Amino acid sequence: MSKNSLPSGLEFRQSVDHMVDRAIAVMDLDKGIANAIKACTSVLQVTFPVEIKGKIEMFTGWRAVHSIHRLPSKGGIRYAHSVDQHEVEALAALMTYKCAIVDVPFGGSKGGLYIDPNQYTRDELQDITRRFTRELAKKGFLSPATNVPAPDVGTGQREMAWIADTYKHLYPEDVNHVACVTGKPVEHGGIRGRTEATGRGIQFALQEFFRHPEEVKAAGMSGSIEGKQIIIQGLGNVGYHSGKFLSEEDGAKIIAVIEHDGAIVNPDGIHIEELRFYLNDHQGVKGFAGGKYIEDGSSVLEMKCDILIPAALEGVIHKDNAGNIKANLIAEAANGPITFEGDRILRSNGVKVLPDAYVNAGGVVVSYFEWIRNLTHLRFGRLERRFDEAKGNCIVHALNEMTGKNVPEHIKHNLAHGADEFDLVRSGLDDSMRLSLQEIIDTYNRDEKIEDYRTAAYVIALSKVSRSYLDIGIF
Ligand code: NAD
Repeated sequence: MSKNSLPSGLEFRQSVDHMVDRAIAVMDLDKGIANAIKACTSVLQVTFPVEIKGKIEMFTGWRAVHSIHRLPSKGGIRYAHSVDQHEVEALAALMTYKCAIVDVPFGGSKGGLYIDPNQYTRDELQDITRRFTRELAKKGFLSPATNVPAPDVGTGQREMAWIADTYKHLYPEDVNHVACVTGKPVEHGGIRGRTEATGRGIQFALQEFFRHPEEVKAAGMSGSIEGKQIIIQGLGNVGYHSGKFLSEEDGAKIIAVIEHDGAIVNPDGIHIEELRFYLNDHQGVKGFAGGKYIEDGSSVLEMKCDILIPAALEGVIHKDNAGNIKANLIAEAANGPITFEGDRILRSNGVKVLPDAYVNAGGVVVSYFEWIRNLTHLRFGRLERRFDEAKGNCIVHALNEMTGKNVPEHIKHNLAHGADEFDLVRSGLDDSMRLSLQEIIDTYNRDEKIEDYRTAAYVIALSKVSRSYLDIGIF
């Protein structure tokens, strides 16, 4: 293990492969096909200069394409010092399986730049991002048809807007240029509901889990999300949105939040919105008044809770601490937060895990919707919203006339509400997360050789990807 007990990119990639091998072992899958699915199709490494404060600095980035059985290949771009070729390959492989699990017709890809974005100004980051974009586009690793990035750790809407704009200037004749990247600001071709999509997807996944009383019981819990004690690691995009929705809308209690400088613990529940404001203002959680500060954040992963949501880094639950985890259920909001060895220990201790390749797929589901919106050049709901509204009003009117009473206001509102883009995105995301978990649970319960939800999810993904190889052939 590398420093801080966190795995290196190579260990991460091997961990993903070992987990997939567990699924292959319970399937009747041709060995050649299995190897073809597991292999990373291509990897680009680029090193380029950018002038920063009058000096030339060199930057290195990667874009891995894990699979092209469906196009475009899809996956985020990460700006971090953890990035290396192996990490990008591991994340690209996860994207292949993730897209298959939630029925998004994309191949898997991922990119990264070795950089600490906090060391650069906005303008410098813009220069670096635009240069990286040119490298990717010129070398065939960026286009609406073949390879479409999205935000990940260290990047967001702003970087996606720079990527889209750079691509547009390179290829103005491409009528679909805006679809070369997803996760853009709404004003620049993004879709409503994308920023919070991964967190929202985690909420929908947990809501679906609690609709299965047998599974909830097997995880040592009962009832609904309401009142459940949750610990979140990482209050970035994914951790913040999932924590906010689960506490504000489902009545869960966020009893601890772990950040890079320590943790805040409060058995009565932490106000997520306030902590997020504090974190933004102070670049850390130390000093936040709404709970007790604990310097050793990783020790808080081992606190008793119902649901643990690691939403920061990979490899944080490993062979040295997995045995101490007291959560009943882990929702892997981050990519690869549990190592292969850690996973084995959790399984033998009866800790249930909703795997990353399923539970954090909300982002790519809504990215898919954004890509379709960009290709159609039409906002979802634009054609039918007022029509549906008029039809709803007609029904309300008919009910009033037939009963001689007025339909209550809240029912009237629901009936006469034409769905806008936000409603449709949320409904499509909910549907995707529900159906996928139902399929995972069915697969898990159908075959006793399948010991956990992760293996069930990979069995589903491998079956779908292998079908595409077998139907079309390898050429
Ligand atoms: P982010 O950069 O917005 O947030 C990461 C958070 O983790 C930050 O608040 C950071 O301060 C915190 N952090 C860093 N080091 C930490 C440590 N040692 N302990 C605790 N917290 C620490 O990133 P994000 O987009 O929220 O992504 C988080 C994870 O979710 C990553 O694994 C990413 O690949 C995965 N993911 C993200 C998306 C998405 O749509 N953004 C989609 C799927 C998966």
